[in-house]
Amino acid sequence: MTTKEESKEKDMKASVTASLLSLSQQSGSGLEEEDHSDLTERLLGIHRSGNNWQIQVGSDGLNLNHKIFIEQYILSRLGENYPEDSVLVYFKKLRPEPTPSGNTGPTPVPTREQAFGINVRRKHIPGVRQIIAVASGKGGVGKSTVSTNLAVALANQGKKVGLLDADIYGPSGPMMLGARGPASVDENGKLIPLEQFGVRLMSFGFLSDAMNPVLWRGPLAGKAIEQLCYDVAWGELDLLVLDLPPGTGDIQLSLIESLPLHGALVISTPQDVALIDAHKALTMFETLGVPVIGLVENMSVYHCPSCGHESYIFGEGGGAEFSEERRIRKLTSIPLDPSIRMACDIGQPISLQKSRPQARIFGELAREVIRETGLNTEPN
Ligand code: ADP
Repeated sequence: MTTKEESKEKDMKASVTASLLSLSQQSGSGLEEEDHSDLTERLLGIHRSGNNWQIQVGSDGLNLNHKIFIEQYILSRLGENYPEDSVLVYFKKLRPEPTPSGNTGPTPVPTREQAFGINVRRKHIPGVRQIIAVASGKGGVGKSTVSTNLAVALANQGKKVGLLDADIYGPSGPMMLGARGPASVDENGKLIPLEQFGVRLMSFGFLSDAMNPVLWRGPLAGKAIEQLCYDVAWGELDLLVLDLPPGTGDIQLSLIESLPLHGALVISTPQDVALIDAHKALTMFETLGVPVIGLVENMSVYHCPSCGHESYIFGEGGGAEFSEERRIRKLTSIPLDPSIRMACDIGQPISLQKSRPQARIFGELAREVIRETGLNTEPN
């Protein structure tokens, strides 16, 4: 190794150690006292290959949230000198489980998914070809509006579509699709989805109070939603659209870890306060190894119907900047338009009026999702 390379590695080590030390000294980081008292001791090694770095951190006693937090903290502290996509923080148990032969010898560098211990349990939902998640870091940005109109637009294009309204604390699927529960159960004990406009919908709003985990929190609620996915008689579906609860907490993490997601859409308005949370949503998917199809910028512009003036009520260009910074595609911009809201309020999503410009935006988004998930090809 040349002196220059050695000094680069030294610099990196110093930066990572400084960030772990600073995190150790912070309170309110979400890490338990005993976990963040010795964070610098968790630094197991730093490896460099070309311009890429791998930072190995001991993971004993850390849960998934801690790992994400530490990863994000290190990346943010490394800053501009080391672009995010050139640094991989991965976690390794300090005391590895003995292999069947009792040999605990050197372990190969794990992939990102292996490092986070995920994807092993992801179980296929019978009959469902693809599942995509629609997420937002924040509530009220139009996630359910986009999910519903996208589902109708996919059905308009001949796809067999399911929509799981997983927003347990505020299910809006039934209202937006004009479907009334409760759901009934078939002879196998599976819930029968309600079909509207070619979309098979299941929502916590269709469940009786006894089955509704509205008072549940965290991973338990995540498990309840996961269970619901498997307990519905979806039949044959090309695509299941999963309208996630807003946020990036335990519920979302537990769900994303458990379901075989083929991709995710992140919804945000162009407003900074929404985009900050969209960053978290994107990081959550990237960390858990779910491909992000792209960003949907909602409420991007308001066209005044009287004078035609365009107002950028939630700011201009936020989505474009976000997608450039995070290197994901901005799939579309949906205007702030009262007709989009009203159509959902009366249970007749605007996508049903196929010739209207607003419906065409969702139609184009549906085509993009079909392409990105490979649904434009025949199943094997
Ligand atoms: P979320 O699922 O993110 O909480 P919703 O889809 O429920 O958000 O949308 C919040 C509110 O904003 C709803 O009243 C909805 O009708 C309205 N809305 C969403 N998107 C638009 C839009 N593009 N134009 C006008 N109103 C919208």
